[in-house]
Amino acid sequence: MGVPETEPLDVGRIRADFPILDREFGGSQLVYLDNAATTHTPEPVVETITDYYRGYNANVHRGIHHLSQEASIAYEEAHDRVAEFIGAVGREEIVFTKNTTEGVNLVAYAWGLNELGPGDEVVMTEMEHHASLVTWQQIAKKTGAEVKYIPIDEQGTLDMDAAAELITDDTAMVSVIHASNTLGTVNPVSEIADLAHDHDAYVFVDAAQSVPNRPVDVQELGADFLAFSGHKMCGPTGIGVLYGRESVLEEMEPYLYGGDMILKVTYEDATWNELPWKFEAGTPNICEGIALAAACDYLDEIGMERIQKHEERLAQYAYDELTAMDDVEVYGPPGDQRGGLVAFNLESVHAHDLSSIVNDYAVAIRAGDHCTQPLHDKLGVAASARASFYIYNTREEVDKLVAAVDEARQLFA
Ligand code: PLP
Repeated sequence: MGVPETEPLDVGRIRADFPILDREFGGSQLVYLDNAATTHTPEPVVETITDYYRGYNANVHRGIHHLSQEASIAYEEAHDRVAEFIGAVGREEIVFTKNTTEGVNLVAYAWGLNELGPGDEVVMTEMEHHASLVTWQQIAKKTGAEVKYIPIDEQGTLDMDAAAELITDDTAMVSVIHASNTLGTVNPVSEIADLAHDHDAYVFVDAAQSVPNRPVDVQELGADFLAFSGHKMCGPTGIGVLYGRESVLEEMEPYLYGGDMILKVTYEDATWNELPWKFEAGTPNICEGIALAAACDYLDEIGMERIQKHEERLAQYAYDELTAMDDVEVYGPPGDQRGGLVAFNLESVHAHDLSSIVNDYAVAIRAGDHCTQPLHDKLGVAASARASFYIYNTREEVDKLVAAVDEARQLFA
């Protein structure tokens, strides 16, 4: 997939940073394959969290005492580190949020509610996560805008001819998922961004499943906005990122009002703080933001290209092994064209039953609609099972998954 051949990861060394992976259930060692939902937290990131609470816990931007200064500097520098991680210009383009979902809501409320109206269109894809799909759908209802969807083909890839027809001068926003959390499809975001910009529309990228596992550069993608979550990339829960192009963020109204996001307040009116603080009202998740920067350090030390390659190899192997069973259906593109996950169904076994049986072997996978109900409707199934891989997973773990799925087949045969 255009990624140079690279040294394989030293998975043994990486696993030593994740003691949780040593847990056993019913005498079997945990096989954690639910990484698209949440990844685990390596020791250096856990240490960053304990160092903060043991050493310099204080509120930011509010005190001139030593602890507050130390916390403020670390928190602000965390924005610089994240900016560097995704190729943003600087901290003014990095808003810390709670998660990806809050990132899209921020844009939908602060930009969409003010800018959209009857005659405007929001174009999404049929594979959007509910985080974007429901948010834009509801903002469109409030504003009178219309929502349109770029269709997918049989293989779960976007119909780019349809995209070129759907994106017109009426399009105000194109909201696209970078890597699908259900199909594993990796979308041609920069091509879509070119189409959008040709019609003066903005582009919002849901990068929840791409920033954690491949090099992402907001300039190369042509994103005006891009959102992702810390808990899917070795960081803690409660922290996410909204990237916004500086000129666009400057023009936008705040999302939440209150302390810290203001410059000057009178009884009659208020003016707004500089970027990104204009969008970070109240006490933020200080420790989590600092720990997210530590997660970026951790991933960069391993190397994002190597991480991408590792995940793709595991996904291809899982795809090959699962499709070799004639009663297993795997959704999405072929094994050599997908990101690091595989969603599938075993004929005549509900995904929940499958995941429960697999869990008896301490293999953790996800079952359900993965927050893509309309996509599952389109696939003609209510639910699917999903195995998703990360830096600490091995081929042997894929073998354990496949063996457990095989046990389930025999149980229901
Ligand atoms: N977008 C995608 C593609 C996802 O996979 C997820 C999480 O599963 C989200 C958005 C929402 O992420 P969060 O729950 O962290 O807001």
